[in-house]
Amino acid sequence: MEHFSKPYTYAVWTKDSDVRFKSTSGGAFTEFAKKIIDNDGYVVGAQYDKDNLVEHVMVSDYDGIERIRQSKYIQSRIGNVYCEIKDKLNQDKLVGFCGSPCQVAGLYAYLGKDYDNLITMDFICRGMNSPKAYKAWLNEIEKKEKSKATRVWFKYKEGGWKSSPRRTRVDFADGHFKVYEAEKNLFMYGYLSSNLYIRPSCGKCAFKGVPRQGDITFADFWGIDEKYDDDKGTSLLLINSDKGNKLFSLIKDRFEAHEMDFNSIFEGNPMFSESVKVPAEASAFLKDLDYMSFSDCLKKYHGYPKKNLFILRILRKVKRTIINR
Ligand SMILES: Cc1cc2nc3c(=O)[nH]c(=O)nc-3n(C[C@H](O)[C@H](O)[C@H](O)COP(=O)(O)OP(=O)(O)OC[C@H]3O[C@@H](n4cnc5c(N)ncnc54)[C@H](O)[C@@H]3O)c2cc1C
Repeated sequence: MEHFSKPYTYAVWTKDSDVRFKSTSGGAFTEFAKKIIDNDGYVVGAQYDKDNLVEHVMVSDYDGIERIRQSKYIQSRIGNVYCEIKDKLNQDKLVGFCGSPCQVAGLYAYLGKDYDNLITMDFICRGMNSPKAYKAWLNEIEKKEKSKATRVWFKYKEGGWKSSPRRTRVDFADGHFKVYEAEKNLFMYGYLSSNLYIRPSCGKCAFKGVPRQGDITFADFWGIDEKYDDDKGTSLLLINSDKGNKLFSLIKDRFEAHEMDFNSIFEGNPMFSESVKVPAEASAFLKDLDYMSFSDCLKKYHGYPKKNLFILRILRKVKRTIINR
């Protein structure tokens, strides 16, 4: 398994506008997944279970791809999926696995060797959130809305891709849905600004930078030149191996694809090479969730979002005034 120290780098988005809208960045994952299924293969990714928690499953048709599409910002349960993958590989079936870099590393460790019929896909990862914190947030919302959540759609793109990290849509069993934005989008606000419920191990991630774990890496191409950004989602695609390159060459025409300089990715996406800083209070935060609501806990350990956003806005205004002088 030879992975490149300088991956081929592309800005891409799928030409299928529906898939692009329903994907987290440019829909790159879905096009790779479809090609694998078209070749009688199996794709493994993360879906919501009946309790809105996340689990890795193996799928073999396009409906299955719909379920595993989209980023879910919570740690998924791997369950028995590594075993299932090994079985299919030994039956000479083509298998695509998509997960965090540490999950891809876990798969290789379990298999003990690389297989020609295995394609691994990872993503640039800020860090995995605790399912306990996520459930506490969702329970609070469900109580307020007096209905069970049926679907959580992180980074909902209605209103634009670049602002999508601030926007989460939740659908409810009684038929209504709500879009939580900015300071009302508490879970993503806390994820992106406090790191309080990111797994402690993510603070010392062993799988940053290059060589990548996966044959292919997906990410949001934050900081991409305006000419490749129509605010509908641009994927950063890294091709990390000959295997990945071969597969990409077979589906390149499904994308709007532009080759980029590898060095252009670092500024917009520091998480490519850096781990987040998980604060010392993270474990106290999680313990307090046993008897406090998510919003009270976040307020206790991180401050009230409105206040922080207000201060941020003032700081940005001051910065703009200084720059424009
Ligand atoms: C926890 C997390 C943190 C991320 N951090 C960053 C970041 O800092 N910077 C950045 O540019 N991109 C980050 N990403 C990746 C980004 O959100 C997109 O997933 C990526 O750009 C692929 O988008 P897409 O449109 O090609 O496909 P999508 O359809 O969005 O593909 C998502 C793929 O990821 C898998 N997946 C979804 N949720 C999980 C999960 N919880 N665990 C394991 N696999 C999962 C799905 O099964 C699917 O294969 C992160 C993703 C996750 C899940």
